[in-house]
Order: sequence, then structure tokens, then C-alpha cells
Amino acid sequence: MKIFETISFHIVKPCNMSCKFCYATFEDFTVNKQLSYTEIVIILDKLREAGVEKVTFAGGEPMLYKKLDLIITYAKYIGFTTSIITNGSFLTSRWLSSMKGKLDWIGISVDSLNSETNKKIGRVSNREELDYFALVDLINSYQYKLKINTVVNIHNQKEYLTDFINYSRASRWKVFDTLPVKGQNDKQFEEIRSTEFDQFVARNNHFSMVVETNDLMTGSYLLVDPLGRLFENTQGEHTYSSSLINNSVEDCLSQITLRESKFIERGGIYKW
Ligand code: SF4
Repeated sequence: MKIFETISFHIVKPCNMSCKFCYATFEDFTVNKQLSYTEIVIILDKLREAGVEKVTFAGGEPMLYKKLDLIITYAKYIGFTTSIITNGSFLTSRWLSSMKGKLDWIGISVDSLNSETNKKIGRVSNREELDYFALVDLINSYQYKLKINTVVNIHNQKEYLTDFINYSRASRWKVFDTLPVKGQNDKQFEEIRSTEFDQFVARNNHFSMVVETNDLMTGSYLLVDPLGRLFENTQGEHTYSSSLINNSVEDCLSQITLRESKFIERGGIYKW
């Protein structure tokens, strides 16, 4: 089986936010464990040898993994293009400065510029409220490649974010529909479901926009969970392989369903 060129590695389960649409809560886990640095290195080595070129560290919130900087440094050392997708709460000038030359891309999640809307979504933490303009200024001051992710949902579906995207100078703006995933967000899904996804896309049309409908999001991502297993969502819930720590990538791939045509259709290959 051919492996995708990019992978999202969800290295931790916990998050300091509680977005109601979150597809990666891992509430279906029966084991609570965190991968060690050594286990992550084993997995990264296997994926690189199998031909994966770009790794995105996600979560939960990846910055809650204490050795994230060492993991990114190792991934870069063995030849990956490196990326994180974060809610932005923990990004500091000091951290960004220390990761230069090791981390290539920073993806931040921005659903709304309105604090009341973010509260309704659950995109809030007990930390200081995020100023997204200041956040992109900070990231751009270190000249990282910037990606912004937005999930269109019942609370932000009428928003116009294009001026902010212009301001941010993001290379990619990924706009997702709300995707129901059993065991992840089904308890609160109806509460957050978007009804105006197409109108949002038409209203916010931007050259950097990459649109992901629910169909395109299904089976089109190569994903690793916080226990070190491949997983996918073609059955409306997560299906997990055996652990990559003790098994070959090929064996794990044979246990899940991936759709390469959708990976390409959703713009999975681009100049990274
Ligand atoms: S910030 Fe990301 S990982 Fe955390 S709850 Fe929201 S969508 Fe999920």
C-alpha cells in the first residue's frame, strides 16, 4: 500500500480548550497513556523510512507535550518538513525564537475574532484571551510559514474573516465543515453543526483558501493517535491499527482504509 507524503501525529490527548466540534478528543480511549520521547522517535524513524515527507504535530494541544521541542528537532534532523497545529495559547516569543531552523510551519486555529462566539464554540481556555492579530504578528516576526485552520459551525457561519486572512499573510487557509465523528464529538454535534458552509466559503473566498467538505475529510488523512497507532474515520468513527512501536508501517497500513485520490483532491500535496 502506498503511504501518503504527509502525516498528522496527534502526540497528546489533553487540550486546554474544549471546542464542541473537536474531532480529536480521543474520548473513545480505554487506556490513558502518553508516548515517551523514545517511542515517538521510533515511530518517526519508521514513518520517514516508509517515505513520509512532512509531519504535523497535533493533539489535543501539542504544546502540552513537554518535550515537543526535542521531538520537532529530531523530526527535522531525520529529514521531515515539520509543522504544528496549535490553538496558539502557549506560543511565546522565546519558544518561537528557539525553534527557528527546526520548525517550518505553524498552523493556528482561528474560528472567530469575536470573544462571545469563541465562548459559544468552546474555543477558550482559562488563560488570557487570545488576540489573533497579535498572535500572527508574533509568528510573522520570526518568518515561519503560516497556516490558519477554520471550522465553520453554527456560531461563526455568518462571519467574514477574509480581512484577517489578508492581514495574517497566511500561505494556506484551510476551511473545514463540521464533521461528526462518533466517540469524539457526537454528544454535542447537533449543537454546533453548520448549515451554511457553502455560503461561508463563497462569502470569504480567498486565493489561499483550501476547502474541506466532510466528504473530502474522510479517509484522506494519514493520522497517528496519542498511543502510537494509525487511525482513520471512514466508518464515521475512528478505526485504529496496531501500535507502530511494535509493528511495521506496512502492517499498520493494511489495517486501515485510506483514499489516496481524496488526499490529492483535498490538496494534500502542495509546495511545503
Ligand atoms: S483547540 Fe483543537 S484540539 Fe483543542 S479542543 Fe479545540 S479543536 Fe480540539
